[in-house]
Amino acid sequence: MAKKWVYLYDEVRDVEKATGGNWDDVKGLVGGKGAGLLDMTRAGVPVPPFFTVTTQACNEFQKTGKFPPGMWEQELAALKQIERKTGKKFGDPNNPLLVSCRSGAKFSMPGMMDTVLNLGLTDKTAEGIVKLTSNPRFVYDSYRRLVEMFGTVVLGIRDEAFEEPLKHYKARKGYKLDTEMNADDWKEMVKQFRAVVMREQGFDFPQDPYEQLKLATEAVFKSWNGKRARDYRKKEHIPDDLGTAVNIVTMVFGNMGDTSGTGVAFTRNPSTGEKKMMGEYLLNAQGEDVVAGIRNADPIQNLKSQMPEAYKQFMDITNKLEEHYREVQDVEFTIENKKLWMLQTRNAKRTAQAAVKIAVDMAKEGLISKEEAVGRVTPDQVDALLHPHFDDKAKQQAEEKGDVLATGVNASPGAAVGQAYFDADKAEQMAKENKQDVIMVRPFTKPDDVHGMIAAKGVLTSEGGATSHAAVVARQFGIPCIVGASTIKINLDNRTMTVDHRVVKEGDWISLDGTTGNVYLGKVPMTAASLEEQTELMTLLKWADEISARPNMRVALQGWPSKGLQVWANADYPKDARRARSYGAMGIGLCRTEHMFFEPERLPIVQRMILAKTSEERTAALNELLPYQRKDFDGLFEAMDGLPVIIRLIDPPLHEFMPSEEGLLEEVITMRVKGETAGLEEKEHLLNAVRGMHESNPMMGLRGVRLSIAMPEIVEMQVRAIFEAAADCAKRGIVVKPEVMIPLTGTAKELEWIQPRLVRIAKTVMDEKGVRFTYKFGTMIEIPRAAVTAAEVAKLAEFFSFGTNDLTQMTFGYSRDDAERNFLVTYVEQGILPKNPFQTLDRDGVGRLMRMAIEEGRATRPNLEVGICGEHGGDPDSIEWCHIIGNNYVSCSPFRVPIARLAAAQVALKYQPSAKKNGAKTARKAARPAARKANVKRPTARKKVAARKKTPARR
Ligand code: PEP
Ligand code: MG
Repeated sequence: MAKKWVYLYDEVRDVEKATGGNWDDVKGLVGGKGAGLLDMTRAGVPVPPFFTVTTQACNEFQKTGKFPPGMWEQELAALKQIERKTGKKFGDPNNPLLVSCRSGAKFSMPGMMDTVLNLGLTDKTAEGIVKLTSNPRFVYDSYRRLVEMFGTVVLGIRDEAFEEPLKHYKARKGYKLDTEMNADDWKEMVKQFRAVVMREQGFDFPQDPYEQLKLATEAVFKSWNGKRARDYRKKEHIPDDLGTAVNIVTMVFGNMGDTSGTGVAFTRNPSTGEKKMMGEYLLNAQGEDVVAGIRNADPIQNLKSQMPEAYKQFMDITNKLEEHYREVQDVEFTIENKKLWMLQTRNAKRTAQAAVKIAVDMAKEGLISKEEAVGRVTPDQVDALLHPHFDDKAKQQAEEKGDVLATGVNASPGAAVGQAYFDADKAEQMAKENKQDVIMVRPFTKPDDVHGMIAAKGVLTSEGGATSHAAVVARQFGIPCIVGASTIKINLDNRTMTVDHRVVKEGDWISLDGTTGNVYLGKVPMTAASLEEQTELMTLLKWADEISARPNMRVALQGWPSKGLQVWANADYPKDARRARSYGAMGIGLCRTEHMFFEPERLPIVQRMILAKTSEERTAALNELLPYQRKDFDGLFEAMDGLPVIIRLIDPPLHEFMPSEEGLLEEVITMRVKGETAGLEEKEHLLNAVRGMHESNPMMGLRGVRLSIAMPEIVEMQVRAIFEAAADCAKRGIVVKPEVMIPLTGTAKELEWIQPRLVRIAKTVMDEKGVRFTYKFGTMIEIPRAAVTAAEVAKLAEFFSFGTNDLTQMTFGYSRDDAERNFLVTYVEQGILPKNPFQTLDRDGVGRLMRMAIEEGRATRPNLEVGICGEHGGDPDSIEWCHIIGNNYVSCSPFRVPIARLAAAQVALKYQPSAKKNGAKTARKAARPAARKANVKRPTARKKVAARKKTPARR
């Protein structure tokens, strides 16, 4: 028996049988529209009789360019059933059946594929319907629509080829509107449109209705691979191999006079989420008139007075549909001589604002559970709600005007409009003194550019990638940022940036869309956002936290977390910590202390400390720095009263705190040329010192724990400052939980060297101050060796925090500052890498190292606290991996905390042990296949874990 390619309107059960009953799979086979029509028919909703050709048939057609064997015969057989049901016959002049041919993929792709209405109209059937309806105007209006749609959609003729003759005809007749056209006018247009087909294609519009149906079905199949559809799928991440179904639906007519009409509606407002039907309709019109906006449509509420019965029935049906699907529905309907027909129902697309409001409202109404509400909003939607954003219309206008100057990596989302300045000092000065909105534009940024970045509304660089300095800092501060916009040529001497012939001078206005990576010329209008004002979002996130905090969301060994992930924040300053807390952070996962060293009054002291010739000189400079650091930490502890605060000891190479070698050299040469001697010797001395610090590979050089071992005085001062601040706070009644983090550990021996002397200082300070509080010493895992030897490292480290920016850099051997600019984009385009690994964790490589580190670390220290503080901590896909492998928390920039809270709850729900019944993997299982596939022998420490796994204890 030939495979079943076609399902009739009453065969929903057969579709369910064929697909196993899962509604998602039903949609996969018959498309969203087909599934909706089948389901509505089953529920007794008035749907015109129809049949659906499956997506599988479409996929076969894509392979061979032909209908699969048996498909057309099944279409004809189904058509016979429809004829029986309607009492009409396809092609019969006495009582003709007309049908529409509509595309319908699994995921709705509005307007991206093709539809043809009124199939079955020919010269003969047209005459027949005129006799039956005595309404020749309606008949010839429908016929000309068919010729036009068939011509453009099926035969690929340009729209204008049909629009032009109609325009001329109307002008000749003195008509303004289509409604002024009478039956003879439309009959004349049918003639002219057929002449267009003949002229453009060399053959007449088919008078065989079966030929029409065949070609229309084929055209819908082909439209799956049209450019529009392909582009849309790419943007929406819809796979290319799903195919579209084709729905052949009995035509009902909204253009039969003033007791007929057609419309579209949403059961709630898809823009604001308001619980109020929103829709429009037109009397005496066909579907596409409403969408095309040729005539002004009426709000759906007006239908109540015009056709009370149809309106009441429509409201009843749509209410039931929303209740049945427990989702906002987007419906299409037609009223033919006062009889209501439903032509489509599907889950409505909506804005981020509407998504949140609808999810929360529906949960409060009891229509869905809190868990479902949390699952219905995407992290991207939360992101969109929290950043000021550009007006969609304004963006479109700017694009149409050709104002897109360049596109780069969308490093930090949100919109920024400001005047371009090409260095940090000028940017800061213009922002602070002249109160200008500023965009800081640089080839790339360095730590000493931070003041300019903070003062700026947005940051644009022509080099660097998603974890470059500019990107990391901008995200942390919530500043919209685009990096690596490599078509931009920045001329720092002329103070200009250029793309082709277009030049932006210092002070010119530009707009950055950090969400898309687009740079616009001029000012694009913006809409602002704030979390506190978004009460529904606050409610949703509260529910998300409740879910993550439930016990037994993960099957856990002794010491391992059994709840979901906590979300902490990366924050350097008290004001960032306060923001992080107000955004829901449960701790500080990373305070990068070196940023504090760059502040103007501190930098000279830092430089003196670096240039010190003796340990005493160095200590003297550090003693000057200590009060500053203590104050910084005091503010952090106060802001995070009761919550853990991880402070990382100094990490970057020291040359970053010094003036640049090129700059100094230039100054020295200029002084020599001009014969200036005053100060020359110091400058030369400084130049030599900076040269002495030069390293070929500073990222792999004297930084992190290596620097602490080379110059322990710096971190000793920092630890003293941390504990003095903590002690002072504790005395003021603040609950402090300091955690000291040692960066860039590669071997446990490094910790053995440095950690005990730091712990001694901690204890001494507590003795001096006469207070006790709990504290931890731990390390970042940023070097593959540390991950691989985690069992050893965990002997000293009381916590691990994955610094996945460096861990990715070191695992791949890709420079985090240059890779995106040089080859990473190509790698992703060519499918060599699935995603940018600096944005989304590479589970198979970096992720596997992390899993190994956790398992080995906890084999040594079962209650080892594990977090992540690299940029991935705010990325939903990476958050999922952190949940799977057993992290306690993720830490990200304060602005991403709400996004991470939602993502953490969603992943907890996805993998909770009871979800297994619904086909979900348990987290532990999901973590396994990579290792098995690669046939990896488990190391000894893992065996220990496995042994203990037999008697899992839950917390
Ligand atoms: C990291 O490497 O992931 C990290 C958080 O440290 P930094 O970005 O400061 O090197
Ligand atoms: Mg790092």
